[in-house]
Amino acid sequence: MIDVLIIGSGIAGLEAACNLYESGKEIFLLEKEKNVGGNVQNWDTLFPDGKNARDIISYYMQEIQARQITTYLNTYVTGIHKCVDGTFEVHTSRDIVFKCKTVLIATGYSLFNAERKEEYGYQIYENVVTSADLEKRFAQQSKNQLPNGKPLHRIAFIHCVGSRDEKSGNHYCSKVCCITAVKQAIKMKQLVPDVEVFCFYMDLRMYGPGFEEKYREAQEKWGIQFIRGRVSEVAETLDKRLQVKAEDTLAARPFKLEVDMLVLMIGMESQASTALFQKSCGLKCADSRFIQPYQHHLDSNATNVKGVFTAGACIGPLSVFDTINHARSAAISVSNFLAE
Ligand SMILES: Cc1cc2nc3c(=O)[nH]c(=O)nc-3n(C[C@H](O)[C@H](O)[C@H](O)COP(=O)(O)OP(=O)(O)OC[C@H]3O[C@@H](n4cnc5c(N)ncnc54)[C@H](O)[C@@H]3O)c2cc1C
Ligand code: SF4
Repeated sequence: MIDVLIIGSGIAGLEAACNLYESGKEIFLLEKEKNVGGNVQNWDTLFPDGKNARDIISYYMQEIQARQITTYLNTYVTGIHKCVDGTFEVHTSRDIVFKCKTVLIATGYSLFNAERKEEYGYQIYENVVTSADLEKRFAQQSKNQLPNGKPLHRIAFIHCVGSRDEKSGNHYCSKVCCITAVKQAIKMKQLVPDVEVFCFYMDLRMYGPGFEEKYREAQEKWGIQFIRGRVSEVAETLDKRLQVKAEDTLAARPFKLEVDMLVLMIGMESQASTALFQKSCGLKCADSRFIQPYQHHLDSNATNVKGVFTAGACIGPLSVFDTINHARSAAISVSNFLAE
C-alpha cells in the first residue's frame, strides 16, 4: 500500500513530493492536467523579486525526474473514501482506484470567471482581459499592442474582481492580486514606457516581504496612478476603446476615463473537486469553500478527517513562497502521522 497519495502537482504537490521522498515515503502524484506545475506554469515573472516562473517549474521537473517519483498525468481525482481500517481508497477519472495510508490534497485554486461580472464586459469587449490573460501574454512575449495591432496609450487595472464581493459570494480577500497588479503595471511601463497606467482599488493589501516597497516604486519611479474608487460600468466606444465610469471615493467625485485596455484582477476560488472530497469523505470546508485547516496555528496541514492533509492554496489564497512553506510543513505533518 502506498504511504502518501498526493492529489495535484502544482508547486504545493511538487514541493511536498520531494520532501516526502527524502524522508523515505512511498508516494504517488496524481495530476488532472497533461503537465505538472499548476497555475504557475502560465505566469511570467513572480513577485516579489521578479524570478522567472519557468525556472521554478523546470527546477521542480528536474527534482521529480531525479527522484523518479511516480506521476499519473491526465488523472482527475473524483473522490476519497475512508476504509474501516483507517486507510483510503482514492477514485479517479481513469477508473483506477488507489489504496493508500494517507492522502495529501494539493489541488490549489481555480480562477474566478470574470464573465460573472458582466458590468466589466469580459468576453464582450475585445480589449478587456484578466490578470491571468495578461500574465500569459507576458510569458508568451506577445507584442505589447492590442489584438488589432493598435498601440497602447492608456490602460487601467480593476482590483477585487470576484473577491471581497457580496454579489459573487466571495467575501474573502484573494490576497495576491494587489501585488500582482503592481507587478503587472510596472511590467507594462517597462515594455511600453509612454503608456499611462491607472489602478482602481478599494483597499491595498501589501502584506508580504517587499510588497509595500514595490507599491511605492510603482508610484515614484513609474508614475502609476492609484485611485481609490469603485468602477460602476464599462462601455465600448466606436473605435474599440473602453470608457470606464468610476467614483473616486477619496475625492468623493464621479469621473470617466477612456482607456485602450482594461485588466481585471480576478480572485482565487476553491477547486470544484473540493466539493467532491467534502461529499466523499466528509472533509470540512470554511465559508469561503476552501478546505478548513484542523487548527490554524499548530496544525494547519491536518483536516477534520484523520489521515487527510492539505498543502498550498487548497486552504485559501497563498503566494508561491507561502505555498512552498505550507507544503514543507505538510510533509512533516504526514511523516509524523505515519510514524505514530
Ligand atoms: C494572475 C496571478 C498571478 C500570480 N502571480 C504570482 C507571483 O508573481 N508570485 C507569487 O508568489 N504568486 C503568484 N500567484 C499565486 C500562485 O499562482 C499560487 O501561489 C500557486 O499557484 C499555488 O500553488 P498550488 O500548488 O497550491 O496550486 P495550483 O497552482 O492551483 O496547483 C494545483 C494543481 O492541482 C491540480 N488538481 C486540481 N484538482 C485536481 C484533482 N481533482 N485531481 C488531480 N489534480 C487536480 C491542478 O490541475 C493543478 O495542477 C499568482 C496568482 C494569480 C491568479
Ligand atoms: S489582494 Fe487586493 S485586489 Fe485582491 S482581493 Fe485583496 S484587496 Fe482585492
